[in-house]
Amino acid sequence: MLSYRHSYHAGNFADVLKHMIQVAVLDHLRLKDKPFVVHDTHGGAGLYTVDDAHMQKTGEYRDGIGRLWERRFEVPLINRYLNVVAGFSRPGALSHYPGSPAISAALLRDQDRLQVTELHGTDFELLEARFHGDRRVRVVKQDALAGIKALLPPAHKRGLVLIDPSYELGGDEAATLAAVEEGLKRFNTGCFAIWYPVLERRRADRFAARLMALAPKHLRAELCVLRDGGARGMTGSGMVVLNPPWTLGEQLRAALPVLHRTLNQGGGGQQLLLSQ
Ligand code: SAM
Repeated sequence: MLSYRHSYHAGNFADVLKHMIQVAVLDHLRLKDKPFVVHDTHGGAGLYTVDDAHMQKTGEYRDGIGRLWERRFEVPLINRYLNVVAGFSRPGALSHYPGSPAISAALLRDQDRLQVTELHGTDFELLEARFHGDRRVRVVKQDALAGIKALLPPAHKRGLVLIDPSYELGGDEAATLAAVEEGLKRFNTGCFAIWYPVLERRRADRFAARLMALAPKHLRAELCVLRDGGARGMTGSGMVVLNPPWTLGEQLRAALPVLHRTLNQGGGGQQLLLSQ
């Protein structure tokens, strides 16, 4: 039984890093005319209304997109991400925050495709309704791993596989590793971006290391807004990117210190970038 709803967490500090990396990878894919495919294994609801009771209940977005919104930085990637987010609201007020499928759809061209799997009944219906009639987008109510088996390799050789589990079940780390391994077997030219939470330092390091071991070219970017063990629950989060665009490391080297300065809570936390 799935209880996680991303609508409580949309726009938080973890979404900021994840979606910034997503934008960077998609922009890189857009540099060539050749079509690409985005395969999003855990779609969520697609787009979130800031006034909605869920977002207001936790208020997590206030310490994420809320701290960056309407500011401009000397880091092009941060500004680019903010422009993409701004595309979903009227000027002046943040009314909507885009989830990963909405961000992908906004950056797809006619020749590109987006395929999304989502298991939660309500979020699947919201997602399906959102993209109804968009022939570039396919939404499937399916388990992430089953979706990787059913939908990869994609129709085109270039693309991004975004893996963003909620890690609410004990076996989610093992399932994620299995999904990435299976995905790489089917689509080894693809860029794989996997999100992970930092709840406990050693566990996060071990999991990230196991993910990075799956491909010789990889990158790990992490943003912690509180010191390790400084709170119950998530103190930070990271992304492991396998087969990253060659420009991503440099972009994140510029962005991460600024994100940490802007998003840390009470002077805590750290940022980390490992690139190979
Ligand atoms: N990627 C989304 C974004 O950035 O906007 C957020 C995704 S949220 C963190 C995780 C989603 O995965 C939830 O909507 C949950 O219902 C869904 N989910 C959980 N287990 C799943 C599974 N085994 N297969 C597919 N979706 C699953």
